[in-house]
Amino acid sequence: MLQCNCSIFGDEQSREAIVIDPGDDIAKITDILGRHGLTVKAIVITHAHIDHIGGAAKLKELTGAPVYMNSNDAELYAQLDAQAGWLGIKPPTRTEIDSEAHEGDQLRLGSAGFQVIHTPGHTQGSISIWIPEENKLIAGDTLFRDSIGRTDLPGGNPRQILQSIHDKLMALPESAVVVPGHGPNTTIGREKERNPFLQGL
Ligand SMILES: [Zn+2]
Repeated sequence: MLQCNCSIFGDEQSREAIVIDPGDDIAKITDILGRHGLTVKAIVITHAHIDHIGGAAKLKELTGAPVYMNSNDAELYAQLDAQAGWLGIKPPTRTEIDSEAHEGDQLRLGSAGFQVIHTPGHTQGSISIWIPEENKLIAGDTLFRDSIGRTDLPGGNPRQILQSIHDKLMALPESAVVVPGHGPNTTIGREKERNPFLQGL
């Protein structure tokens, strides 16, 4: 319903996978995993909004993989039932967070490193995942094509999100592909040049 982008990365050699932001539709995710013979090694949550984390408990139950999330979003995750209430949907099951994803942490998948960048502003625990070997950034709801994440929900801070984008994301290569939490992919260079929220940063 909320059209969140979920990313699945699989390593061809080890057949291990990292799943980022399993919001819902876990059957579709497990179908893709099964089709490619992949075993989930980690479930990574960019932030604790229901459309990004709603399916984490179910995916963990099915795969046994640990869940990674920044601890600054723990309070928001504790309000998952309230989030469901705002949307008028049935609250999904909550799970334990197995590992706190801190700035500078790195997960390995084959030869690729998945680096955690703490980018608060949309929520206090928002993280982005930078994969240098793939020249790819998973941006959660921090940066979108032509837009940025909303900051009017609990934990949001308009000055902080711009600072996160300026200090941490704009420092990445202009050619880096950005996979946002919603909508189409973009690049760092395109957003630097054309994103109306970033002009004059
Ligand atoms: Zn969000």
